[in-house]
Amino acid sequence: MSKNEMNLSFTAISENEAFARVAIAAFMMPLDPTIEELTEIKTVVSEAVTNSVIHGYENIDNGIVYMRAVIDFEEGKLEIEVRDEGCGIKDVDEACQPLFTSKPELERSGMGFTIIENFMDEMVVESKPDMGTSVKVIKFFANNNLMVH
Ligand code: ATP
Ligand code: MG
Repeated sequence: MSKNEMNLSFTAISENEAFARVAIAAFMMPLDPTIEELTEIKTVVSEAVTNSVIHGYENIDNGIVYMRAVIDFEEGKLEIEVRDEGCGIKDVDEACQPLFTSKPELERSGMGFTIIENFMDEMVVESKPDMGTSVKVIKFFANNNLMVH
């Protein structure tokens, strides 16, 4: 087995942020992550799911968040995509700037994308107004246990 893929979809409510964190943590166990790596990945998933719930589906009921993850054991690589079909982002470059938030009144700090980018090796954000948003991230794991798979 050189790859393992999972797909999840869940209602866009803030309670499911915790579900998504636990799900990705369980899925990535075969990569034998350090506590730090585990914390980073859970934080990244939290930030992306929270964005879909709070921003993407702000004015939309019954939205669905889609999460896909693929482990490539040969490359020691974890890919995650968090996607919504919500309102989308007009200017992705602006949204990814540190401290940019469209919701200062909610005491958002505008650091979600910055945190995601810093914790991961790659981040690609694709979005279309009224179509939705996809956040794809990649992280490489260097450890010797990967050879057993
Ligand atoms: P924080 O994450 O620090 O609480 P924030 O969510 O505003 O604050 P980011 O996560 O960096 O900061 O997101 C920046 C901006 O990008 C958001 O304020 C919002 O306007 C937009 N955005 C992010 N994700 C989505 C999404 N899934 N759908 C629509 N807009 C989004
Ligand atoms: Mg955010």
